[in-house]
Amino acid sequence: MKPGKVAFHTFGCKLNFAESSTIARTLVSDGFTIVDEHEQADLYIIHTCMVTAAAERKCRTAIRHLKRTNPQSQVAVIGCMAELRKEAISAMPEVDFIFDNKTKFDLDLILDHHEHSNTEDLSVFHPAHSLGDRTRSFLKIQDGCDYHCAYCTIPLVRGNSRSDTIDNILKTAEAIARSGVQETVLTGVNIGDFGRGKEDRLPDLLQALETAVTSPRIRLSSIEPDLLTDDIISLVARSEKLMPHFHIPLQAGCDAVLKRMKRRYNVKIFSSRIEKIISLMPLACTATDVITGFPGETDDEFREGIAYLRSIPVSYMHVFSYSERDLTADSAYPAKIHPSEIHRRSHLLHQLSEEKKLTFYQQNSGTRQEVLFESDNTGGFMHGFTGNYLKVRTLFNPERVNRILQVQLPSPNSDPLFEI
Ligand code: SF4
Repeated sequence: MKPGKVAFHTFGCKLNFAESSTIARTLVSDGFTIVDEHEQADLYIIHTCMVTAAAERKCRTAIRHLKRTNPQSQVAVIGCMAELRKEAISAMPEVDFIFDNKTKFDLDLILDHHEHSNTEDLSVFHPAHSLGDRTRSFLKIQDGCDYHCAYCTIPLVRGNSRSDTIDNILKTAEAIARSGVQETVLTGVNIGDFGRGKEDRLPDLLQALETAVTSPRIRLSSIEPDLLTDDIISLVARSEKLMPHFHIPLQAGCDAVLKRMKRRYNVKIFSSRIEKIISLMPLACTATDVITGFPGETDDEFREGIAYLRSIPVSYMHVFSYSERDLTADSAYPAKIHPSEIHRRSHLLHQLSEEKKLTFYQQNSGTRQEVLFESDNTGGFMHGFTGNYLKVRTLFNPERVNRILQVQLPSPNSDPLFEI
């Protein structure tokens, strides 16, 4: 294929976004021009996600839609669905090229030769980071996962846990900082597992970033409860650069369900992590994920879980309704929960999350915080985030874009949101 216009349509996690950005830069160096996903392009690259059945459906719909509206263009499907649904994706008449997680970083070479190289396996680490957003960059530090949680396809599509070196990460993080981006988000599949099998683990990386990188803000993405050590929490508490924002996926507030999910902690361990954070940083953001409707989750287990969530100071929850997959260990589990019951439980969890979020915003009301303002102009307004991830809205002012400004937080509105 000759160099032309390329548009990316990226689904799923921050890792996919970081990787799309890196693949795009390779294509640009080969003479391609990157255009917005809504513009006419010669090639559409769909970076797929299959974390849920709904995510898969969205990807398939996008593939069909793009080819229908741009019949002259070529469509390449890359990423997790290309890895695990290769046959089904190949059978789609809309698809011209497929590159799985092993071959997607060679996409530029493969397009030249119209053939798939398959010499790599999923044990190679490919560095990636996103650029294009002036405010924030997602920096991939780790990939893959050695855990085998019963509901998760990620180890199948992304392979075993592996990491970048601290030296490489420091170089890239400093280059991001020097390009003017104010915030770097450390991203991976299981970042708490950084450095597995090597001497230097996540606390060593965080200490090195703290000392050597000039970025004003470094944020951790989601980290497993059993891997969030006291060392990491204490480092964040002492640091000016590491933001007091923790996303710790709980998934279920009941030990029996956690055991069936094959998670590696119990609620006591989770509580100890939250207590440690709050004891050192009372206003830190402690967000979590919860899956509802996991097979066999009884009424009593659900009630136990929601009572537990009510009792601990998490700032808010991302609630996921369980959807059955054909590829994971849980697909063999009996006692599926009826969709209407999953819907009811999900509604109760969403309600609780909204209450918790409002409480978290109210606790921060009246405090003075630093807000990093973003570049989007949404109906005359702009948004920014504090270090502990509170959202602030104000009238759009180009002079505030990509600047960190001191703000006295008023009372939140019911969104919740701080309006200044
Ligand atoms: S820790 Fe569990 S849920 Fe997270 S990526 Fe690994 S297997 Fe999936």
